[in-house]
Amino acid sequence: MDALTGLSSPEAEVRLQRDGPNELPAASRSGTAQLLLEVVREPMFLLLVACGVIYLALGDRQEALMLLGFVGVVIAMTFVQKRRSQAALDALRDLSSPRALVLRDGAAVRIPGKDLVVGDIVLMAEGDRVPADIELLEANYLTVDESLLTGESQPVLKQALEAVDAGAAGPQHLCFSGSLVTQGTAQGRVVATGPRSALGRIGASLGGIALDETPIQRETAQIVRRVAMAGASIALLLSVGWALSRGDWLGGLLAGLTLAMAILPEELPVVLTIFLGLGAWRLSRERVLTRRIPAVELLGATTVLCVDKTGTLTRNQMEVRRLWVDGAAFELGEQPVTAMGHAFHPVLEYAVLSSHRRAFDPMESAIGVAGRHWLQGSEHLHADWTLVSDYPLSRELLAMSRVWRSPDRRELLVAAKGAPEAIADLCHLPPEQQQHIAAQVAALAAGGLRVLGVARTMFATESLPAIQHDFDFEFVGLVALQDPVRADVPAAINDCHAAGIRVAMITGDHPATALAIARHAGLNVDGGHLTGSELDALDDTALAERLRDTQVFCRVRPEQKLRLVQAFRARGDVVAMTGDGVNDAPALKAAHIGVAMGGRGTDVAREAADLVLLKDDFGSLVTTIRYGRRVFANLRKAITFVFAAHLPIIGLALAPLLMGWPLILMPAHILFLQLVIDPACSIVFEAEALEPGAMRQPPRRPEARLFDAALVRLGVLQGLGLLVAVLAGYVLGERLGGGADAGRTVAFAVLVLGNLGLIQANRSWAASASGPREVNTAFRWIVLGAGALLALALGVPQVAALFKFTAPPATLLALSAALALTTWGWCTAAVALLHRRTWPQSSSSWWPTRRSP
Ligand code: ADP
Ligand code: MG
Repeated sequence: MDALTGLSSPEAEVRLQRDGPNELPAASRSGTAQLLLEVVREPMFLLLVACGVIYLALGDRQEALMLLGFVGVVIAMTFVQKRRSQAALDALRDLSSPRALVLRDGAAVRIPGKDLVVGDIVLMAEGDRVPADIELLEANYLTVDESLLTGESQPVLKQALEAVDAGAAGPQHLCFSGSLVTQGTAQGRVVATGPRSALGRIGASLGGIALDETPIQRETAQIVRRVAMAGASIALLLSVGWALSRGDWLGGLLAGLTLAMAILPEELPVVLTIFLGLGAWRLSRERVLTRRIPAVELLGATTVLCVDKTGTLTRNQMEVRRLWVDGAAFELGEQPVTAMGHAFHPVLEYAVLSSHRRAFDPMESAIGVAGRHWLQGSEHLHADWTLVSDYPLSRELLAMSRVWRSPDRRELLVAAKGAPEAIADLCHLPPEQQQHIAAQVAALAAGGLRVLGVARTMFATESLPAIQHDFDFEFVGLVALQDPVRADVPAAINDCHAAGIRVAMITGDHPATALAIARHAGLNVDGGHLTGSELDALDDTALAERLRDTQVFCRVRPEQKLRLVQAFRARGDVVAMTGDGVNDAPALKAAHIGVAMGGRGTDVAREAADLVLLKDDFGSLVTTIRYGRRVFANLRKAITFVFAAHLPIIGLALAPLLMGWPLILMPAHILFLQLVIDPACSIVFEAEALEPGAMRQPPRRPEARLFDAALVRLGVLQGLGLLVAVLAGYVLGERLGGGADAGRTVAFAVLVLGNLGLIQANRSWAASASGPREVNTAFRWIVLGAGALLALALGVPQVAALFKFTAPPATLLALSAALALTTWGWCTAAVALLHRRTWPQSSSSWWPTRRSP
């Protein structure tokens, strides 16, 4: 094995087989026993068992057996659901586990951290989690945060194996799994993986996917609790009333339990879990990874998107376009190399010298490419020079220098590049020359180019100064690079604006470049720009004032993003923020939705984020918002349905007591409806596409609740309609068919068919839904399934006997169908009447009107 080629793939495979994956044993995968316990704790399960016991006490074997059958159904469904959501979570966890850059077969490739094996050569840079225990072969200013292991959050300096004295105390050349690279780059060899690593030995574990509660989950839990309490009290009243009026205690208890089953809104949490879980799963197919599942729903409410310029709006593929030296400019194009005058050689030469030889940064790679091409064959490329020292880019100074020794010279050569202001500052230029350069920078930047200043100096002694300012730099020229806006960005930004979402750009770049790119991308730049230093000078009220119309933030340091997020939040905005660097983590955490870039993002940024875009582009962010809106809209539809569907069942459970009728619905019927129809229906609503106009409407208000008066009104109106139809069915059935069983048969048929009408009515709430809807396969299956089950229950005497149905004559069947059709019409009318008014149509322009006080 050679340090420069790494392991071969077959060798790595062998070692992986031998040592096992580089991961820690999962903390808690719930076993079958635990799942069983969860099932047994379900209230529905307990109600079923109680009813079964009463039937047995009544000597009604068959009913008891049927209930037992349903118990089986409950168990199986809960099992399947839990297993499925667990499998989905495990898959997400695998995707979100750290990745490592390793040399395999001589090339650097990014592999899942769990595939690392002992002997792999790993490349690490600022922001990475160390993926295994690693012995350093090479380290440049490498400091790591080992707080996960030692609790000590002070970064520790690490050095390459050969740089450490044999007698030095402590493992200076070792980086431990789970620690964080806070600065520098390194290359090293894996010495221990998985449970054998330092982290594995202490049994610690990194946070996986968080499942904390969002407002809507808390809201749901609260609603469920209240309804359940109310249901229990009503059921108790019913039991007592029944028992007292008819002197039949067991029958009363049964009626009460039946009512409790009818009221219990046990579908709501299930619906929520299914919608959010499947939402996350659908997003993963769009290459968007959800680290915090509830974020899916919050996305729909996003009002401000704060995005990075470089790499998110632009392609992050740079190219040197122009050089500027002393008043003359050169445009790099297709011309022969000799077309470039000698005057332009030094600026490129020193730009190359101030870059890393093996560049990570696309800007430095572009400079390297341009240098190798335009300086080929000249004396300006210095492969034989050796690096003596370097001064990295810092918070205070946007410039970096590298110090070189040439074989044929005594002095050291220093090359610097950076933001033009910073370079002008380092060169101590007189004001008029500074202005001259600034004018040129503005002209280049106005074309959307990123401009760098280049400077050089010589230094005679080995004792280098501590800071770049202490060199006496000479200004060489300007390099302008192009990083085009991604092709799909203008359309995506347009979509955001139509959807009432504001897009703000945050960048470390020059104001003129930032504004030009913003214009290309189609951002609203009427409000001008705000720079990082202006930001620092503003107090909170002044900043809030500026935020009303500013969408371009430039020369912003990552730390300042946090203040921006907080200021937007203080205005009542729902903020989504993108980020990729180590210093972005606090802002990503503070944003409602932190979005990390999966490709170029650091592990730290990904760990802090709620979403990870595996495709790294702005377009997927807009897709994600679309999904978020869809989830919320569909949740409301599903919940309205659940509300409306419960009302007739409750009514049917109460009516016998009030009217002196025999029990119409028995536990079996309710179970049939609740266990078979309801969950299936939530699947129909989950699969419903986004309403056609939904991305042309403003975001829902952040304080908007999932359950609001509008939803309850609609549900109640629809549910009452269904109840009237079902009661009418019972009465007519009983009169025409002769007896309670015939009445029950018709009532049940109307209920099942009416539920289908109810679904159809709620599938689309948009006013413009007159056209054909997208095919919803789940709905077709439900219609078929419900029809088949109904036919079975009515047509097969044995089954009909279980449900206490009679074989209905054709007139009664036609009657049921007619009643169901009427309900469908009623429910659709209710949607038109109530709902369309509460969903406002979009206004064409939003920011001046919508937010101003
Ligand atoms: P962005 O928001 O576009 O990602 P950065 O924060 O990466 O901006 O960079 C901000 C500024 O810092 C750049 O405009 C440039 O002037 C300077 N800069 C960034 N990287 C380098 C580098 N490798 N060498 C010199 N200057 C750099
Ligand atoms: Mg950058």
